[in-house]
Amino acid sequence: MPDADLGKSRILVVDDEPANVTILQRVLAQEGYKDVIGVTDPREVPAILSQAPPDLILLDLLMPYLDGYRILELVAELWRDGLRPPVLVLTADATHRARERALRAGAMDFLTKPFDHLEAVLRVRNLLAWRHLEVHLARQNERLEEVVDLRTRALHESVERLREAARHREKLLNRLVDAQEMERREVAAEVHDTVIQTLVELQLRLELHGHRFEDPVLRAEIERLSDAAARALAELRQLVSQLRPVAMETDGLEGAIRELLQAGGRAGSSEPATTLVVDLSVDPPLATQTVLYRIAQGAISNVRRHAAARTLEVRITGDTAGVDLWVRDDGVGFDPVEILAIRGRGGLAIMDERARLAGGWLQADASVGHGAEIHAWLPLDPEAAVDPEAAVAPGADDAPGADDVPEMESAEPGEPPGTGGAGSGTTG
Ligand SMILES: [Mg+2]
Repeated sequence: MPDADLGKSRILVVDDEPANVTILQRVLAQEGYKDVIGVTDPREVPAILSQAPPDLILLDLLMPYLDGYRILELVAELWRDGLRPPVLVLTADATHRARERALRAGAMDFLTKPFDHLEAVLRVRNLLAWRHLEVHLARQNERLEEVVDLRTRALHESVERLREAARHREKLLNRLVDAQEMERREVAAEVHDTVIQTLVELQLRLELHGHRFEDPVLRAEIERLSDAAARALAELRQLVSQLRPVAMETDGLEGAIRELLQAGGRAGSSEPATTLVVDLSVDPPLATQTVLYRIAQGAISNVRRHAAARTLEVRITGDTAGVDLWVRDDGVGFDPVEILAIRGRGGLAIMDERARLAGGWLQADASVGHGAEIHAWLPLDPEAAVDPEAAVAPGADDAPGADDVPEMESAEPGEPPGTGGAGSGTTG
């Protein structure tokens, strides 16, 4: 007995000899097949195939009007793109040539007349089992394709939403950078118009009136005051130029960073030999340039304040995906473990935050006595870095990287003295 599913299969028996049809119908009914259609006039077959497609066809080859080969061709034609029902050929003509021709036309198996009942039943069962498996697989495939389709659509929608979020974030970044720069310009203008003017006046008066005093001790004291005012003026002017890098507007990123490198450090400190390499195939957007400039500014300032370096190299390279910035020195370096223990404020944390806000990352690599390297990467296309949290710096596992950036003493230009963790003693 076939199992319940196979028992429901529709079987079409086509033979111009009514006795053959009757025997097969009887044998199959005894075996439990409930849907067996018998046809002795082959001309009825085309209508049956198109109206009630069978799961299996038992087909005689030699018939009047429409022989078995023609029906095999018809089956192949009807199911050119679908699951063709298997055909079991019933024939008394068992020549090699006849079998080859039937196989070429798509026959699956043969039953030689007069046929053995058991053999007929077993061959029918094998072909139906194969047929059911094929139909089952096809349905699974269809379902799978539906699921893939659905997921693909969901994925496209997610990507679109992420892109939208990225565009939104880029706008926010631009506004944030604009607001920061505007504020810095305002502070710079304020310092220039108030404190600097006052100091200029103070220095002039000291120079003007100092020589009137006869007392050499007093005169020396006035001179010291005048020198102090001059130093304060110079420092304030440098601060103002850091707050508002005019070179960014006139000479672009490269010119502005060159000016940073040439500006020199504090009086009395020995200056490292500087190198600047800029190799950009695409000009980054202005907001990105500003972020790059501010990170470079912080890193260069750190080197000048703490590293006691002989060489300082700034390298900016880019491709269509993003821009890399390296600031390297051969100075005293720092101990990442010790630096990691000091958290809170600081230049490095601010640099890291700037990089992240722009959708990129920042990595600080250093060891005591072997110099330091700050490496930042910023995306050019905001869609390339839709998730800043997912942007991981290379080697972040073994170096203080984007996810775990150590603090350094503040070197953030423009930050009031004393707010940057002075006395942490982590670097020179
Ligand atoms: Mg016949």
